[in-house]
Amino acid sequence: MEADLDASVGNLVLIQGEVLRAEKEAGREPGAAALIAVSKTFAAEAIRPVLVAGQRIFGENRVQEAATKWPVLRQEFAGIELHLIGPLQSNKAGDAVALFDAIHTLDRPKIAAAIADEITRQGRSPQLFIQINTGAEPQKAGIAPDAADAFIAACRNDYGLAITGLMCIPPIEDNPSPHFAFLAKIARRNGLSRLSMGMSADFEQAIRLGATHVRVGSAIFGGR
Ligand SMILES: *Cc1c(COP(=O)(O)O)cnc(C)c1O
Repeated sequence: MEADLDASVGNLVLIQGEVLRAEKEAGREPGAAALIAVSKTFAAEAIRPVLVAGQRIFGENRVQEAATKWPVLRQEFAGIELHLIGPLQSNKAGDAVALFDAIHTLDRPKIAAAIADEITRQGRSPQLFIQINTGAEPQKAGIAPDAADAFIAACRNDYGLAITGLMCIPPIEDNPSPHFAFLAKIARRNGLSRLSMGMSADFEQAIRLGATHVRVGSAIFGGR
């Protein structure tokens, strides 16, 4: 246990250095790619050392799990920014809007409608990323690439949502770089400047291709 906690802080420092190096190599400003530490499945005790080390941006993939861990941690540490990176059901939209500062997984009209209602009701506006299924995988969440432009327009015009950017999870067996480039291209033609892409195995490639948010879990916290 003790060894694992020490490891996560060492890993964090290592990853921060690699993010900085990738930004520099890509000719981008330091800090251009925000590091989201993905703490899903890890308990508050495992997250605390990473907070003490100064990390403030975290990702969770389940609303319910996040709701049990983060209200307490937010009382202990100021300035926490919490990102929902997992699938969202419309009946959890209220909890998600209340708890998260960014939602990366907007991917269907029903969720857009539910989020829009909750933003009005709560007067809270998390950043919204639309998830694009860049590999058109049948089992994977996200908007099909050929439906992306229309869905982005519908979110803006029909639901009145301010869209921050796009997110993708490339197919596990593919070289991720073409998917990252594809996501950047869809974002560009829709006037979106933020890209949530890149995980433990491929965040450097993502930064090279314009990621503004990388989601790194196991490389910081260890295997799940
Ligand atoms: C779990 C998860 C991550 C982090 O994955 P690692 O490979 O552990 O870095 C990133 N993005 C999403 C959507 C995830 O569910």
